[in-house]
Amino acid sequence: MADNFIPISKPAIGPRERELVLAALDSGWVSSIGEYIDRFEEEFAKYCGTRYALAVSNGTTGLHLALATLGLTQGDEVIVPDLTFVATANAVAYTGATPVLADIDPDTLCLDPASVRALITPRTKAIIPVHLYGHPADMDALTEIADSYGIAVIEDAAEAHGAEYRGRRVGGLGKCGVFSFYGNKVITTGEGGMLTTDDQEFWQRAKRLRDHAMSPTRRYFHEDRGFNYRITNLQAALGVAQLERIDEFLNRRAEIMDWYRQAISANSEVRLNRVKNWAKSAYWMVCLEVDSFDAAQRDEFMRLLKARGIDSRPYFCSMSSMPMYQQAALPVAGRKAQTGLNLPSYFEMTKSDVQRIGSDVNDILKSMGVM
Ligand SMILES: *Cc1c(COP(=O)(O)O)cnc(C)c1O
Repeated sequence: MADNFIPISKPAIGPRERELVLAALDSGWVSSIGEYIDRFEEEFAKYCGTRYALAVSNGTTGLHLALATLGLTQGDEVIVPDLTFVATANAVAYTGATPVLADIDPDTLCLDPASVRALITPRTKAIIPVHLYGHPADMDALTEIADSYGIAVIEDAAEAHGAEYRGRRVGGLGKCGVFSFYGNKVITTGEGGMLTTDDQEFWQRAKRLRDHAMSPTRRYFHEDRGFNYRITNLQAALGVAQLERIDEFLNRRAEIMDWYRQAISANSEVRLNRVKNWAKSAYWMVCLEVDSFDAAQRDEFMRLLKARGIDSRPYFCSMSSMPMYQQAALPVAGRKAQTGLNLPSYFEMTKSDVQRIGSDVNDILKSMGVM
């Protein structure tokens, strides 16, 4: 790639990350026992304001572990948003339960409580709000529905480390929260994930299932079909170093968003991330929506941007458009999936990078007759 190519994202790895990963390596504890795992769990729980945290091999296994811990099985239903990364729906399907697709709110891009309420049946066992692109879902409304039917809420917070709902950090707002530390997430361990919960019994059960459900009193006797969903000490060392810097990362993400708001001529039909007054977004992704676009125009826009050396990515495809979960399209999610896209954001980005992107975005939109 050319020197001045701007990628969609890249991790911020500095001297502290190098120091702790090398210390973990030198300690000889390279596998899934070690001081950095305990530290990462303790410090992540503290960060989320939860009593417990459990480190896992990635966000997808974290979601599966949370749902397996709830005891989900065939015949059960779990409500998930139609617009999300596929892992949310897949994790439900891994348990044998059925993911039931709900529509999203056009501003937050997260579960629409009215759509969720209409989908509740006697088989509904859980709701998974996804804090999409870093914006928290409307948790009070969703919790009220869940509580009135005795249903669990599992937050998919894979994209929203540090985001807040009415002043409370995500991850501690339901039965359990699930985070991802994939390379492009708010903080990374390469691959990795975390469960957060206040429920001691849930935490203990999840911890047991994470390690093949081995009996605590009889080695190599397994009372359940568990998993190996452990993280390594090497990854946890990277996580400890990244978590030390999370405020710095989140501040930069908010700053980058401000630069975008100055650089792109938004109007009633060209919009950047919308943030509710009750929300603090983690701004995991910069979102650009152009109302008049269809999917072909959106893709053409991205192609023209790439020709100018700027990467972008389309919104996720809707679950209902995929062969495994095929069904009639949900109007809001279906439309967003075809017209939305994400622009670059990463720690090392400068204001002049964003200004360059902004002027190219404005130019291309004008050339396409949008502005
Ligand atoms: C990244 C992501 C996951 C999965 O995390 P992995 O660590 O990649 O397995 C789950 N849900 C959402 C919404 C994500 O963005």
